[in-house]
Amino acid sequence: MPKLEVNLDLIRKYDVPGPRYTSYPTAPHFSEEINWDKIVPMIRSNNSDSDKPLSLYFHLPFCRSLCWFCGCTNVITQDPESSKLYLKYLRKELDLVTPLMNPKRKAVQLHFGGGSPSFLSAEEILTLGDWIHHHFPFADTYEAGVEVDPRTVTEEKMKAFASVGFNRISIGIQDLDPDVQQTIHRVQPHEMNLRTLDWARSNGIQSVNVDLIYGLPHQTTAGFEHTLDEILKMQPDRFAVFNYAHVPWLKKAQAALTPLPPERKMDLLKMTIEKLTSSGYTYIGMDHFALENDELTQAQKNKTLQRNFQGYSTHAGSDIYAFGMSSISQTDSAYWQNEKDLKQYYSLLDANHPVQRKGYILSEDDKIRHQTIMRLMCDLELDYAEMSRKLGIDFASYFAEELSSLQDMETDQLICRDKNGFKVTDTGRLLIRNIAMKFDVYLKTDKQRKYSRTV
Ligand code: SF4
Repeated sequence: MPKLEVNLDLIRKYDVPGPRYTSYPTAPHFSEEINWDKIVPMIRSNNSDSDKPLSLYFHLPFCRSLCWFCGCTNVITQDPESSKLYLKYLRKELDLVTPLMNPKRKAVQLHFGGGSPSFLSAEEILTLGDWIHHHFPFADTYEAGVEVDPRTVTEEKMKAFASVGFNRISIGIQDLDPDVQQTIHRVQPHEMNLRTLDWARSNGIQSVNVDLIYGLPHQTTAGFEHTLDEILKMQPDRFAVFNYAHVPWLKKAQAALTPLPPERKMDLLKMTIEKLTSSGYTYIGMDHFALENDELTQAQKNKTLQRNFQGYSTHAGSDIYAFGMSSISQTDSAYWQNEKDLKQYYSLLDANHPVQRKGYILSEDDKIRHQTIMRLMCDLELDYAEMSRKLGIDFASYFAEELSSLQDMETDQLICRDKNGFKVTDTGRLLIRNIAMKFDVYLKTDKQRKYSRTV
């Protein structure tokens, strides 16, 4: 992909709060009324004669210290016994849920997220891996990714991840600038990142993603450019450069941070996109960049990219079954989320009770809008005839109001369209959330919800 020029005036114009669309409808719509009694029939019908592939997610919530910018659901502890106990309960959850599932379904994707999966000891990683392989058959080729904190991972743990079958790692780095690191309460010398990369590659884990964040206090364009230059030397396959989401009403520790003024944040964004796209990375959309030959870039070209709670994924057409506190499962018809409080999660399992806490059952309109938003965010285009065929509707009439509301975006060249459909332009890629928002029926009545800003 050639260097992507960023038009800051347009970005400013469209910088409004909006969802990230890892689901549609978004998680704030999940309700406690959708309880386990309502979810079980959804799981049964999803497994009745389905040999649809599975995507498995395990939430491992522990971290040794809190990074003040963090938006994840985590548990801060230095006690190594915590993860041992957690695994015991995770096994109970697996034993409760898997009998509802079709045992022939094969996993094509596995993801350990958190928190910090690298909080686990090497022995615990191997034990959990054994249980997972015992409960689920895996396809001959599958993608297994793990989020790794260079401050807690060791060579022994990396070997354990590799032996469980992990073939991708995501290294949490955020920023190399020592001042920024002090301010966000995450001091991580670069040597730790380099040794993590070395351990991964020497143990056969070849696919590497690096997580960075822009918009943090004290970041400067020159400082962040230095970070990018150093990380580029590591030659990761993918970058996720997240926009710092300042939501202190949800994440109390963020109140200690003063986010960058929007103008400085925009400069960082512009520099980042222009630098990475001129260094051989394709801007996939929503903070993600990947090398031309990476599966993510190829999946976008082949229209098999999918967007879900883990971000972008190459496994379109699989259902996500998620385990652990706060994790979210997803089929075509329903979402369900586990209890977010660790003590509650344990006590529910002590009573042999399901740990699902909230859920959502999609209406026919939700399914149509979900497909539309996901195809738009992944393919960066909508072909009306193809969407009509996929969704069993007359797409242009169904979305007549939404399509006519795109006029401004067409004038601003975020999209270009003809009678058959529209394509998102390079500039439009940066504002894909805003385009997707046009198809979100809930935003019309949702004004009171607080989302992070789109840029
Ligand atoms: S950023 Fe990662 S390591 Fe830091 S607190 Fe959040 S989950 Fe834990």
